[in-house]
Amino acid sequence: MKHSFTQLGLMEPLLRAIREQGYDTPTSIQSQAIPLLLKGRDLLGIAQTGTGKTAAFALPILDYLARDPMPRVARKPSALVLTPTRELAVQIADSFGAYGRHVDIRYAAVFGGVSQVPQVKALRRGLDVLVATPGRLIDLMQQGQVDLSAVEVFVLDEADRMLDMGFLPAVRKVLQTLPQKRQSLLFSATMPDNIVELAASILHKPVRVEVTPPATTVERIDQCVLHVDKKDKRELLAEVLRNPALERVLVFTRTKHGADRVSKHLRQVGESADAIHGDKSQGARQRALEAFRRGKVKVLVATDIAARGIDVADITHVVNFDLPNEPESYVHRIGRTARAGRGGVAISFCSPDERRHLQAIERETRSKVRVVDDHGFVSKQPVEPVRSKNPAGDRQWKKRQHRRRGRSAAAASA
Ligand code: AMP
Repeated sequence: MKHSFTQLGLMEPLLRAIREQGYDTPTSIQSQAIPLLLKGRDLLGIAQTGTGKTAAFALPILDYLARDPMPRVARKPSALVLTPTRELAVQIADSFGAYGRHVDIRYAAVFGGVSQVPQVKALRRGLDVLVATPGRLIDLMQQGQVDLSAVEVFVLDEADRMLDMGFLPAVRKVLQTLPQKRQSLLFSATMPDNIVELAASILHKPVRVEVTPPATTVERIDQCVLHVDKKDKRELLAEVLRNPALERVLVFTRTKHGADRVSKHLRQVGESADAIHGDKSQGARQRALEAFRRGKVKVLVATDIAARGIDVADITHVVNFDLPNEPESYVHRIGRTARAGRGGVAISFCSPDERRHLQAIERETRSKVRVVDDHGFVSKQPVEPVRSKNPAGDRQWKKRQHRRRGRSAAAASA
């Protein structure tokens, strides 16, 4: 394992940019992947957002392109990064900008939901690195605005989400137009069979790099749960936010409406808050995210889908305003506060009907979430017993109990 960036073999202008970013030591995926990628190997990276995987692929790509510069040709990028969401596309492009600030590399991001005019302009000017979401990329390819025949390095980012979101046909279409001779990288947080197959069809003798599973992220996070009735959640959130330790807070709600209602209520009580979700325009989402990233907005309220790929450093607290019914979503959500090895705090509100979600989460993470009960809105409903998801089973149980009581009463009187 390499313990400093200077040992990885990257060129000096990149090392300088890394220092300016404030990174001291490479993360595990960076120290494992970068030397191999610099040698031109294909890579299967099993890693999720938060592990430093963006720099793990962006740095070797920048090194490769900047070491041996070629004239730029309009519409023909040399490197292509495919990623599932707009937010990720913007973040990845920003990373290329940050790490590549001392080399002469041009990059752009193309994604849907916004005008394609500036994107087409960037393509026409000529660029080295193109970061794209599949839908917009296919559109632009069909219009003849982009030509992938000169791609030398191809990255498929978040492959599992890509498939979850139904992008497999688009990914295949893109693959068909890439040159055979190229370096390919595939990143995925999980490796279900369909990803194994996809990887086999894309990668040539890849090295496999796997980094720590989410459980270790969970261990670093201070988690607690507050039992509260549904109707009191907004007031409770306002109370919790009065603690000055909550500096940059990501709040999760189950629905888009919920996200709007919560952020509106917070503004009414004087907090700086905004909401992002799929019903908002791309521009509005980006503005909200940017304000949050810069610390202008303290609380960002989001749904799971909208929060996918949000990568904001220094989120001090994640609040689960609603508990997710999928334990994996819980792990994903709270992982936002423990980026790149830092710790964080996750606060969950649990209404009586969400207690079974809490149980599922505790089973999945094999830990008990600490209960905080010194707040002003403690639910009066007893914490136990948890109601069953199976009312038919409950009825059967009651019937049996009734019969049993009858039997024992009969036995007692005999
Ligand atoms: P990623 O997994 O690529 O989304 O990166 C997660 C976060 O870690 C981003 O905010 C990066 O800026 C940050 N990061 C990446 N590499 C390092 C590093 N070596 N040291 C400190 N922070 C890093």
